[in-house]
Amino acid sequence: MDIRSYKNELRDFFAKKRNALSSSEKSILDKKISDRLISMSVFKSSNQILLYASTDEEISTDSIFRYSLEIGKPCFFPKCYDHSKMIFFRVSSPDELICDSFNIKAPKNETDIYTPKPSDIIIVPAMSYDKKGFRLGYGKGFYDRFLPEFMGTKIGLCYFDFISDSLPTGRFDMSVDIIITEKKYICL
Ligand code: ADP
Ligand code: MG
Repeated sequence: MDIRSYKNELRDFFAKKRNALSSSEKSILDKKISDRLISMSVFKSSNQILLYASTDEEISTDSIFRYSLEIGKPCFFPKCYDHSKMIFFRVSSPDELICDSFNIKAPKNETDIYTPKPSDIIIVPAMSYDKKGFRLGYGKGFYDRFLPEFMGTKIGLCYFDFISDSLPTGRFDMSVDIIITEKKYICL
């Protein structure tokens, strides 16, 4: 089977597994993961944080966003262009996020563009991570295009049961530096 079909099968598998979680189970796991992240020194000492606006199916980033705003850590969210490119803009309140043409929340204002600073972190969404930190994304390669330009620490949030032994990888696939689960974190 070619890599694209294999990844699509795995995406279906993890989508079903994700849908099988009840919303109460999910909120407990999401809270454990968010609490773990914000207690970690890599978060505390970070300058700026690049987040994704989570859908109902994804691990929620809401409390990470709220807490970061409370402590004055600048937050940036991506906006997608031309089906391939992503640009991050600063978002300073939840109402500065609006649904884009993909029906995903994205920054309303395209003013305050992300400029790298030392010790920035990015939270990378995925359907699954493997034990080397490689990810199964949504099949558009947005993060594989963005991450080579990102100089900070790449962090994946993943339920412990969604970690794969090994995922198929292509030549553009980028891995993360740390995976955070509800049970533990894994530095790679
Ligand atoms: P995802 O990372 O979202 O799970 P894939 O890894 O399957 O998606 O990548 C989707 C498509 O985008 C693949 O055909 C891949 O080759 C292409 N792609 C990814 N990164 C790049 C890149 N930096 N330059 C060109 N094509 C890329
Ligand atoms: Mg990829």
